[in-house]
Amino acid sequence: MRPLRRGTNLSRVAGFNEAVVIDAVRRAGDGLSRVEISEQTGLSAQTVSNIVRRMLESGLLLEGERVTHGLGKPRTPLVLHPNGRHAIGVHLDPLVTTLVLVDLRGDLAGHRQLPSPANRDPAEVLREIADAIPDLLAGAGVTLETVAGIGLASPGPVDLTRGRIVDPPHLASWRDIPAVELLEAAAGLPVLLDKDVIAAAVGERWTGATLGHAHSLFMYLSTGIGLGIAIDDTIIRGSTGNAGDIGHLIVADDGPLCTCGMRGCIGVTLSPAALVERAIAVSALGGSHLDAVRSTDPARIAESFDAFCALLDEGDARIAGIVQQSARQLAKGLTILANVMDTDVIAVGGPTWMRLREYLLPRLTGDTAAIPVHAAGYRPVTVVSTALGDDGTAIGAACLVLDRAYAPAVGSIALAR
Ligand SMILES: [Zn+2]
Repeated sequence: MRPLRRGTNLSRVAGFNEAVVIDAVRRAGDGLSRVEISEQTGLSAQTVSNIVRRMLESGLLLEGERVTHGLGKPRTPLVLHPNGRHAIGVHLDPLVTTLVLVDLRGDLAGHRQLPSPANRDPAEVLREIADAIPDLLAGAGVTLETVAGIGLASPGPVDLTRGRIVDPPHLASWRDIPAVELLEAAAGLPVLLDKDVIAAAVGERWTGATLGHAHSLFMYLSTGIGLGIAIDDTIIRGSTGNAGDIGHLIVADDGPLCTCGMRGCIGVTLSPAALVERAIAVSALGGSHLDAVRSTDPARIAESFDAFCALLDEGDARIAGIVQQSARQLAKGLTILANVMDTDVIAVGGPTWMRLREYLLPRLTGDTAAIPVHAAGYRPVTVVSTALGDDGTAIGAACLVLDRAYAPAVGSIALAR
């Protein structure tokens, strides 16, 4: 038997066949009949009938209206019961803590913002998160009984086997913190931890832009840049849970100097601080911003980046030129990654992307793209914007719980009841 991937009290709720049924119904959107489930999953009619009966009883599925098409037998579609189960997602970010509640489909049912976790006692922050949960549930009319657990998304690196946040940038007080244990004790719910970009990729696959794609990438553009990878319908976490650390992928020969000693690494080249520095260099922004972007204070950098985006929106040609150059650099990185991983769709999200996407996306994808992301040979590669927006990572954190409990993972066959 394969060992359990992560130490957690959250067991797979569904057996493998049940998870296969949930997966088929979830992807169908407007529901599937028992016959269609049987056809799509390869499970026998009797097995499907038994599983569906159990899931209707436990509130995971709902029976829709009977529909008759022409002379065919009437069909009764089964859909996921949105209020059958819920999950809570927490995104720890140096600027703000985001707390969300999602239903079984991954749709947002509640949202709270809590103060930044930076420079604070982690145990106190996690208690504050736990204390906000009753209000979050009450606001959505949800009771604790339907909540499957909490997903916690943190900047990496994380230690999944020990449930610890190891050494996140801009969160100095969060060094080697047993976050899973602390939050489980404070909230009384099982907790799953993952690196932020991996959580976001899971959310995008559960309910967002890469739903239905077996092979996809999710790139997160923020203070740092990371990649979430899904191959053969499986999220790739790597040996320690920190896969997708692409910060040192070189995309600009003459780019800024990186801490690794090289020039033009994607992490430093496309960071908000680097974009502001480029704007200062062409005198589009004043030198007063230099202190801010070299301060490593995320709040001050964000303020300067706001000034950069405001000029872009006003049509400043110098800023537009910088964004155009950034699109080329981003396209270079995305092309390398799409080829290495042999994926056909790449979703992009994160705060930097959300501010620049209307300028970047048309340059990267589609028939009229100026700098198309392309793959070797015949494959088209589609670049899409996150479907989950600013809360994507928190929603993804909640989807970790749904994915763990209800998705058919290959490794779960040995664990299935
Ligand atoms: Zn580097």
